[in-house]
Parts: sequence; C-alpha cells; structure tokens
Amino acid sequence: KSPPIDGDFYDLGGRLSPEDRALQLKVRAFMETEIQPIVNEYWLKAEFPFEIIPKFAALNICGVTYDGYGCPNRSYLMEGVIAMEMARVDASIATFFGVQSGLAMGSIYMLGSQAQKDEWLPGMQQLKIIGAFGLTEPEVGSGAAGGLTATAKREGDTWILNGQKKWIGNATFADVTVMWARDLDDNQVKGFLLRKDTPGLSVEKIHDKMALRIVQNGLITMKDCRVAEADRLQHANGFKDTSRVLRMTRAGVAWEAVGCARGAYENALAYTRSRKQFGKPIAAFQLIQGHLVEMLANLTAMQTMVYRLSELQDAGALKDEHASLAKVFCTMRTRDVVSRAREVMGGNGILLEYNVARFVADAEAIYSYEGTKEINSLIVGRAITGMSAFV
Ligand code: FAD
Repeated sequence: KSPPIDGDFYDLGGRLSPEDRALQLKVRAFMETEIQPIVNEYWLKAEFPFEIIPKFAALNICGVTYDGYGCPNRSYLMEGVIAMEMARVDASIATFFGVQSGLAMGSIYMLGSQAQKDEWLPGMQQLKIIGAFGLTEPEVGSGAAGGLTATAKREGDTWILNGQKKWIGNATFADVTVMWARDLDDNQVKGFLLRKDTPGLSVEKIHDKMALRIVQNGLITMKDCRVAEADRLQHANGFKDTSRVLRMTRAGVAWEAVGCARGAYENALAYTRSRKQFGKPIAAFQLIQGHLVEMLANLTAMQTMVYRLSELQDAGALKDEHASLAKVFCTMRTRDVVSRAREVMGGNGILLEYNVARFVADAEAIYSYEGTKEINSLIVGRAITGMSAFV
C-alpha cells in the first residue's frame, strides 16, 4: 500500500480539537470540490469566480476569531488553519478571504465604534458586503508608516479625502474600503469607511499581474471624496492602530505561505510517484527524494512555527516581531519549496494544469505583500538589537 500524500508529517493537525478538525476538513472539502476544478481557468482569465460566494458564505467562517455579529468566535489557531487550507488549493482565494475577514472586517472590529460594527460586520460576515483595505499608494509602499500622502481634511462633520491607493485587493467590487489617510490638521493617519458610491471615487483594475491573478487589485483615486465623521473609524488615532490590524493579518499571511508550500509539495509528491523515467517512478531516484525531503523539512519547520505563533496569539502574547519573523521565514521557505516542486516535475511543472506553476507564481506576491522580507526583517532586527534601522 502506498503511503498517504500528506504534507502534515508531524500530525500537527492532530493537536486540533475534534470541532476544529471538522471545520478544517469542511474548508478542505470546499476548496477541493468547488475551487480546484475552476481555479486554473479563472487564474488564466484573471477574473474572480463570483458564483462561489454563496457557498463560501455558507461555510460561515468570515471573522473567524471575532465575537458577535454572527462571527464564529474561534481561536487564532483555527483562523490560521483555515488560511492554510485555502492556500493549499489556491492562494488567491486565501488572499480574498484574508482581505475580507482579516484586513477589512478586522479594522472595523478592532477600531470601529459600536454603531460601525453593527452596520458593517453582520453583512460582511455573510459576504453580502465585500470589504477592501486601502493603505499602499503608488509612491508609498514599505514607507507607509511615516509617508502616506493621501489626505483627509475635516470640514465640520465631513471629511474631504484626496489621493491614490495602489494594489488594493477586492477594490474593483468592494462595497466599502477601509481607507487610510493623513489628517491635514494633526498629521496623524486616520481610517475611513469609504462607501462604493461616494462621488469622486474611482477604481481601475490592475491588469497583467503574474501572480495571484484571481485577486482583483485596484488603483483607487479619491478626488474630493466626502466622508461623514460617523464613517471615520472612531478608534483609529494614528499609524500605531493600523499596525495592530497588520500584526494580526501578518500571522495569517505566514499560514497562507504554509498552505501554498503544502499544496505544491503534495502535488509534486503525487506526480513523482506516478511519473516514470528509465523504467521507474522518478520518486525512486535518490536525487528526487533529496528534493522531496528538503521540501518536507521546510514545510514541517514552517508548520511548527505557525502553530506556535497562533498559540501566542491565542494567549494574547503576540508581538509585532513574532508575526514578522513568521512572515519572513515562511514566505522565504515557501519560495524554495515551490521552486523544488516545479523542478521535480520537469516541463510539466510550468503547465497550469499540473497545479504547481500557479503556486510558484503566487508565492512571489505573498513574499512581498503585508510587508516585504526586508521590512519584516527590520521589525525583528529592531526587537532583537534594540536599534531601529528604518531611518
Ligand atoms: P517598495 O516599498 O517600493 O519596496 C521595494 C523594495 O525595496 C522591496 O524589496 C523592499 O523590501 C525594499 N525596501 C524598502 N524600504 C527598505 C528599507 N528601509 N530597507 C531595506 N529595503 C527596503 N496594499 C494594501 O494597502 N492593500 C491591499 O489589499 C494590498 N494587496 C496587495 C496584493 C498584491 C498582490 C500585492 C503585490 C501587493 C498588495 N498590497 C496591498 C501592497 C503591498 O503591501 C506592497 O506591495 C508592499 O508593502 C511593498 O510595497 P511596494 O510594492 O511599494 O515596494
């Protein structure tokens, strides 16, 4: 009997409660039966499969860790496992989920007033309202903390927003974008709930991406967009509050990287066991086994790390540098795993239908978003040396 194809070599999943394990398998089944059959077609078209939204909503997983508003109120570990299961089949769908459930809902849950939570979270939980998160700008990426150029000017009970945002996931169809802009009066970064139909707001789809092609990234332009004071995130008083959201979501991105590596490893292992050369399955060759074992070792190290990361998060002990270290390590190791997966598949490794090429491309975007390797390294570096290399 052949051994199972399973990237969870140390059975870390065995540490989950039966209830969490059941949810993990439910998400896996959804991804394998609803997403896998259509994913390469949509990735190639660079379109989002809107028809999956009702079934996605029926999983009832948005806002995994939040209490109330119809959210599941589960652990951060569960949230991480969900991100991994999604990315194991497709990193774009995991990213869509990360933007909706983490960045957009998380900003409102962590920094919104009671009225704002009541208005937005129940609909977002059900995916009836889609959210986006607008921080990065055409000329300001890594330097967002001190460098945002989008502006907000208060006039009575209204704010006037101007500026541009680039790379904003879900932006082309979002009902609401959590928009970050600098208050011209006190120079602090504030958050705003910018509604889709606001006059002066326009969104252009970013075309021709070579990674995460299913994610609809937009270039947003705000020209004198008027936003009511009631739609300003009431507890977002500076970039340090934006960072609280990013700390939570960066942990999720580390899990996404693990999922991406796991999907590539499992597909490559299956392929090498069935592909024959020189009269034998290529998996029987020592040099191929060497690659497989290095992939598995990286994957196992990553998984061990993110399980512990989530335990820290569940204990309320997660620091920025913890999330950053996991984001750096997992996205780096994922790049290595997916490239070996491609390598052991020969020419078929670059064909979409063999389900590894997409992971190779997508790993590049995960490597750069939510803080590049350099920026997350500097966050860890500052923590371990007591010296900031940012400026
Ligand atoms: P830059 O900041 O221009 O960096 C270029 C290079 O310089 C990098 O290697 C960087 O590490 C390096 N660098 C910069 N500063 C330093 C330094 N001090 N020391 C050493 N090296 C340095 N943003 C959002 O707000 N919302 C989204 O939904 C969103 N989704 C995204 C989806 C995708 C697919 C992608 C690719 C990006 C997304 N982003 C989003 C933006 C993303 O967060 C940025 O791309 C990222 O922060 C890096 O910024 P940048 O691309 O402008 O690169």
